[in-house]
Amino acid sequence: MTDSKTIVADQVVEIHYTLKNPDGDVLDSSEGGDPLTYLHGHDNIIPGLEAALEGKAVGESVSIDVPAADGYGERDEEKVIQLPKDNFEFEVEPEMIVRAEGPGGAAVVLKVVAVSEDTVSLDGNHPLAGVDLHFDVEVASLRAGTEEEIAHGHVHGAGEPPH
Ligand code: ZN
Repeated sequence: MTDSKTIVADQVVEIHYTLKNPDGDVLDSSEGGDPLTYLHGHDNIIPGLEAALEGKAVGESVSIDVPAADGYGERDEEKVIQLPKDNFEFEVEPEMIVRAEGPGGAAVVLKVVAVSEDTVSLDGNHPLAGVDLHFDVEVASLRAGTEEEIAHGHVHGAGEPPH
């Protein structure tokens, strides 16, 4: 356990953040809501952001550019697939989000990008894959993680049952 006044591994950190794309469009923000809480040094948040927050104190604001590769990754065109339209038991339309079972049984989320007479094209990339990210972040609070949180690698909320 550590009582560091700045962000080091095993600290529970609350941050307020605004996420923008290179055009300045706000993609996500904690403004007006609860801050994001995470356990530092346990890959709870994207690596580029975690690295930039290392050593920061409560009240400090940082602006961070995270290249796509350090954010949600580059786009992988092999994740764009075509399936026969007959595979779908419902009407598919572009922009629709579809959940499917991937290799190994893991759930995958795909976005319908095109529908032709016989074929449906789906994109399994994260919506922010290939997007350079800009974060404006303020450190809202900081405390030492508990032994249990550190062992689990994530934050336990107040009043939450043990897990
Ligand atoms: Zn846990």
